[in-house]
Amino acid sequence: MRTANNAHDVIIVGGGPAGSTAAALLAESGMRVLLLEEKRMPREKLCGGFITAECFPTLSRLGVIEKLLSAGAEKIRRMSVFSSSRKIEADVSAISDKCGWAMSLSRSRFDQILFERARSGGAECREAIAVRRCVTQKGEPARVEGIDLGTGGAAAFQAPLVIDASGRQSRLMLNPEERAAGERGSRLYALQAHFENVAGVGGRVDLFLFPRGYGGLSPVEEGLVNLCLIVREDAISKVGNDFLKTIGETILTNPAARERFAGARLAGRWHSAGPLTFGKRRLSRAGVIAIGDAAGMIDPFTGTGIQIALRSGELAATAVLETLDAKLNIDEALKRYSSYYNAEFGARLAVASALRPVVFSPMATRLAGQVLGSMPALTRLLIRATRQ
Ligand SMILES: Cc1cc2nc3c(=O)[nH]c(=O)nc-3n(C[C@H](O)[C@H](O)[C@H](O)COP(=O)(O)OP(=O)(O)OC[C@H]3O[C@@H](n4cnc5c(N)ncnc54)[C@H](O)[C@@H]3O)c2cc1C
Repeated sequence: MRTANNAHDVIIVGGGPAGSTAAALLAESGMRVLLLEEKRMPREKLCGGFITAECFPTLSRLGVIEKLLSAGAEKIRRMSVFSSSRKIEADVSAISDKCGWAMSLSRSRFDQILFERARSGGAECREAIAVRRCVTQKGEPARVEGIDLGTGGAAAFQAPLVIDASGRQSRLMLNPEERAAGERGSRLYALQAHFENVAGVGGRVDLFLFPRGYGGLSPVEEGLVNLCLIVREDAISKVGNDFLKTIGETILTNPAARERFAGARLAGRWHSAGPLTFGKRRLSRAGVIAIGDAAGMIDPFTGTGIQIALRSGELAATAVLETLDAKLNIDEALKRYSSYYNAEFGARLAVASALRPVVFSPMATRLAGQVLGSMPALTRLLIRATRQ
């Protein structure tokens, strides 16, 4: 794959957890890596910020766990799921074999630490480069074209291999119809904000199920609490796109959530995203490997999107390095990566898709409340099935 004519062996588009992981591992193995990120780091990112114990093996191979803890990551040992009528509570160790705790940290801090890790591993990391397209022709290196947001000028780079880590709205893997999802009214949107003075959430995460969606609370750095919701479009449009009213009519209909927010104040601004689509997508196209959300998005109620992003970055790096060692061509790297990805995530994505209707149907949410309350062992089994 290394060619004298190209300044880089691989271009990675997107400096989130998937892109930074792949960049760090490939650069450390001697590849000339160019990592292109549209935003300037640190940048905010809509997310629940829950970093499961299943992320730890990759984070520990990257050597960043201590950095995350000193950046204020909160250790999470307990978790609860609330429906309108029930609550189940468990230790994190009950749903994970990996460790007795998980972590929670804002994505601006988490992603910056990983981006800097890619840079210190030897990747050339460029910020404020918005990639618009990637042109590939058989036998030719791929050409990545975009805009340098610093100068406003065009920017172009080439390399034999491109890794698309640009997230769920990928321009490289999805066409415009695929990026706009679902029927008006029932489409899904996400809202997120940090709050201060939220009561009773130290060391724990709470997931609240309500008609037309769900929402999670997790403590992040500096005493702030991250509130993140996924709701159907009609729940937001009904209150004239007012986010405070949206939470009043959804998560805060639950008395336990109301208690937590009794003295809370918004810290910073709201973020929103959508419409959201979930499930597996294309893993590759000529000369391009997709990792993280660009390759497929698992439903956020599983809390495992970050783990899939980190691990798929690792799998892509493994497939590329193995192919390089065996002096095979790029097609073989794409093939190996697809088979590793499917073996590791195929079943989990399918279980999460099967559970989605339960989470979004009002009647099913009530029923789920009964099931959660009466069969905690089954609940734990389902949660584990979305992780392993
Ligand atoms: C509402 C919600 C809550 C969630 N909560 C959790 C949670 O609590 N725990 C969890 O594990 N997962 C959660 N997830 C999933 C998690 O956020 C994603 O799976 C994860 O961010 C994927 O990482 P990534 O690196 O693939 O993509 P991203 O994190 O999206 O990173 C992509 C990067 O690419 C950059 N980029 C995009 N386009 C371009 C371009 N054209 N040119 C250059 N750069 C570009 C972006 O700026 C960004 O930095 C949640 C998702 C949603 C929607």
